[in-house]
Amino acid sequence: MTQDWRDSVELTQQQSLVRRSIRELCAEFGDEYWRERDRTATYPTEFVDALADDGWLGMLVPEEYGGVGMSTSEAVVMMEEIAASGGGFAGPQSIHGGIYNSVPIVKYADEELKADLLPRVADGDARIQAFGLTEPNAGSDSTAMETRARREGDEYVVNGEKVWISRVEDSDYLLLMARTTPRDEVEKRTRGISMILVDLEDAYGNGLEIEQIPKTASRAVHSYQLYFDDLRVPARNLIGEEGRGFYQVLDGLNEERLVIAAECLGLGEVALERGIEYANEREVFGGPIGANQAVQHPLAEAYADLLAAKKVIYSAADRLDDLERTEAGAEANVAKYLAAEAAFEAADAAVQTHGGFGVAREYDVERYFREARLTRLVPVTQQLALNYLGERVLDLPRSY
Ligand SMILES: Cc1cc2nc3c(=O)[nH]c(=O)nc-3n(C[C@H](O)[C@H](O)[C@H](O)COP(=O)(O)OP(=O)(O)OC[C@H]3O[C@@H](n4cnc5c(N)ncnc54)[C@H](O)[C@@H]3O)c2cc1C
Repeated sequence: MTQDWRDSVELTQQQSLVRRSIRELCAEFGDEYWRERDRTATYPTEFVDALADDGWLGMLVPEEYGGVGMSTSEAVVMMEEIAASGGGFAGPQSIHGGIYNSVPIVKYADEELKADLLPRVADGDARIQAFGLTEPNAGSDSTAMETRARREGDEYVVNGEKVWISRVEDSDYLLLMARTTPRDEVEKRTRGISMILVDLEDAYGNGLEIEQIPKTASRAVHSYQLYFDDLRVPARNLIGEEGRGFYQVLDGLNEERLVIAAECLGLGEVALERGIEYANEREVFGGPIGANQAVQHPLAEAYADLLAAKKVIYSAADRLDDLERTEAGAEANVAKYLAAEAAFEAADAAVQTHGGFGVAREYDVERYFREARLTRLVPVTQQLALNYLGERVLDLPRSY
């Protein structure tokens, strides 16, 4: 997709290079590929392997560990392009974890673990695709988590449940968030949570059971319920400091939220492109349907909203390192909120523009629509993004 209307922000040389390389790679995986992955609910293994072979899974791994050493400014371009190429939300979602889960390892893991793991991540040989935070009894209130990792000698013994954990079967490791100190024994609920790396091959059959959750959106990327029953994990797999895991997650949250906003943006862009194409082609009442303003305006509105989201995403990605944490949080939450709304609006307009064919699989827009609906729920719901803005930026009182 190379329409001028998408070129609304100026890219650095590095960003242009990323865009060109990702476009070239994605051109090998056309609409039929993504349609089939969705129809059959199969993970895009060939696509992920192609990215891994070119080193993209190590894009955020520093060069000293064999990675590409890029940053969020480049990651937003990469994810936007994958989605906009026709991959939709499922495209970037299939590799998002593999790229972002390396960040806390780079920042907090000890040197021995980094030296062992990061070069393998960079080569695509070790995949840390799964991140386990959400629980059935905690949900958005993640510090209410009940999964417990109890220290016993040089091991942690893990018990509890997680839900909605993505890409587990396509990963070698799970980055697990668990309570090492019960909530009623810590001063603040954000304390006493730790980040532990679980080797999944060792874990299956030894205290970890998984069950896939049947779902309707982003069907190519599977999510699971996880059951831990006395799973033993070596204590050396603790990432960072015991009890400080939640702060370590918060540390990378804004960058990750911006990148997910870019994924929503790319999804909205491809949906809008399809809507425009069909509005120009389809003739009813003797002329193209796009000549009717009732068809044109929803597409133009979606364009305006996508453009606004894009400006916020790219400007925030550029300045992220210079912003205070609350400012960065404000930008990241605005970006995610705007991009998910714009993606939804674009996909909805594209479906409406297609008339009855809006629900035909062969036109793809129904798939984009299902995925756009999902982006209003993950990784954080739109309400929780607004809560952040209400409480932290507008200084309104907190209800919880
Ligand atoms: C496809 C998919 C993939 C996912 N992948 C992962 C993953 O890999 N790892 C992981 O850890 N998690 C994952 N998740 C979980 C995801 O992050 C959560 O679903 C999301 O954060 C919302 O939590 P919840 O589903 O428990 O909703 P709940 O917290 O139960 O919320 C339900 C509704 O109530 C609203 N609500 C709740 N509290 C408030 C409040 N105080 N103010 C206003 N509104 C409120 C919410 O906005 C929402 O609309 C995934 C989810 C999905 C659907």
